[in-house]
Amino acid sequence: MSNRAVYPALKELARGNVPDRASLVYRPFWWEAAPPRDEASTRPPATADVVIVGSGFTGLSAALTLLRGGRQVAVLERGVPGCGASTRNGGQVGSGNQKFRVKHLIELRGRAKAESMLREGVLMLDYIERLITSEGIECHFERCGRFRGAVREEHYEAMARDMEDLKAVAGVESFMVPRSEQHKEIGTELFFGGSVLPNDASLHPGLYHSGLIQRVEELGGIVRGSAGAESIIPEKHGFTIVTRQVKIRCRNVIIATNGYTDGLVPELGRRIVPVGSGQITTGEIPESLFSRLMPSGRVYGNTKRVFSYFRPVPGQRRLMWGGRVGRFASHRSTNAYCHLARDLLSVFPDLSDVPVTHGWGGLIGYTYDEVPHLGRTRDGVHFAIGYCGTGVSRATYFGHKVALQLMEASESATAFDDLNFPAFPIHPVAKRAVPFVETWYRLRDHFNI
Ligand SMILES: Cc1cc2nc3c(=O)[nH]c(=O)nc-3n(C[C@H](O)[C@H](O)[C@H](O)COP(=O)(O)OP(=O)(O)OC[C@H]3O[C@@H](n4cnc5c(N)ncnc54)[C@H](O)[C@@H]3O)c2cc1C
Repeated sequence: MSNRAVYPALKELARGNVPDRASLVYRPFWWEAAPPRDEASTRPPATADVVIVGSGFTGLSAALTLLRGGRQVAVLERGVPGCGASTRNGGQVGSGNQKFRVKHLIELRGRAKAESMLREGVLMLDYIERLITSEGIECHFERCGRFRGAVREEHYEAMARDMEDLKAVAGVESFMVPRSEQHKEIGTELFFGGSVLPNDASLHPGLYHSGLIQRVEELGGIVRGSAGAESIIPEKHGFTIVTRQVKIRCRNVIIATNGYTDGLVPELGRRIVPVGSGQITTGEIPESLFSRLMPSGRVYGNTKRVFSYFRPVPGQRRLMWGGRVGRFASHRSTNAYCHLARDLLSVFPDLSDVPVTHGWGGLIGYTYDEVPHLGRTRDGVHFAIGYCGTGVSRATYFGHKVALQLMEASESATAFDDLNFPAFPIHPVAKRAVPFVETWYRLRDHFNI
């Protein structure tokens, strides 16, 4: 935090009444410790065994597995490496198992498939921890646990039943915290109790991402920014990837573009809708207040349809708060972040005078069936995309698995392999409808309809 900068207080931002001289830093807080590197002048190579399009967790994790399997790898990035969601997220590391109530997932997929998907969610959490440990990446990874607050009384009961189902079907440990005990988890009166998943984790996404790049390069992989793939031309024995500077011949290609997926591979573009998510970070919070508000130091969320997520900044007494930002995702204006400040103060009204230093947004990749997918297109292009907002562990794991599939390794199978990957029925309309759907969901949250 610079001494000269003037930041708005949370209450000013929440009211949309920010003094003219005050402003936010409009870039991810994580970039303070792990600034993205700019290397526009370095050309990508002319050949590689595998070209990976997208330099986030999916792309880098795939690259690591391929390099360890003896492949030459080039990772192409349109912006600076890591400029997508992987250095913009909340650093909450979960299994993705909370996307659906267990009973609902069983209705949709059948008991056996639901069970294997849920069990694999747990494996994804274990995989990212093992990878960080074995690669020696210093990124504040911690099994801090997740508290999810019930915004209505009936949500508490529904969550309790769902946690029982999760234990019965997939062996996942959790416990419920009634409202009378809630102060041990969180200093708010707003929730009607909540659930704790003690094995969920947190990390510093910027440091995790820069650690992955470092390992990829140590193993001889090439990561290039300002190297957007403009087209992919299938050839007899592989592909030509056309970038502005160079055409790259390769045997295989992996698409790892998630929420930034466009028409490069039309078959995939129709299957992803980008949804904006944004975050704000506060300045320092006085010690006594900080330890009362988040005494257990977990990652946190709630049961709203328009979900909020928050957590302490690793090693500092600051709070990071995130939620949907609809059509304002890329705006450099305090207006884009007012509602996040309002949501934060509804949970922690005592923070009204605390300054807000950073505000930023990014894109998450939604699929029609709200499940991530990996596989191969008709033209033989490999892909792993569609984490629907829970991608820190899942992108890491799917990147690894798609790389194994490309190498036809024996341990490459996943529970997600045989899922149909539906396109959005009217994709251009679905893309434009996101802010309206979000507003409708906010109204449903507010009026409980
Ligand atoms: C604000 C925010 C908060 C989030 N919080 C959490 C959280 O707390 N926990 C969690 O589990 N998940 C969270 N997520 C989701 C998570 O960050 C993503 O699911 C994950 O990072 C996806 O990684 P990825 O590598 O697949 O995609 P990204 O990291 O998005 O990388 C895709 C990259 O592809 C590049 N690209 C696109 N097209 C091309 C092209 N033609 N050529 C070259 N490059 C191209 C893009 O520039 C981009 O850098 C959050 C996301 C956002 C935006």
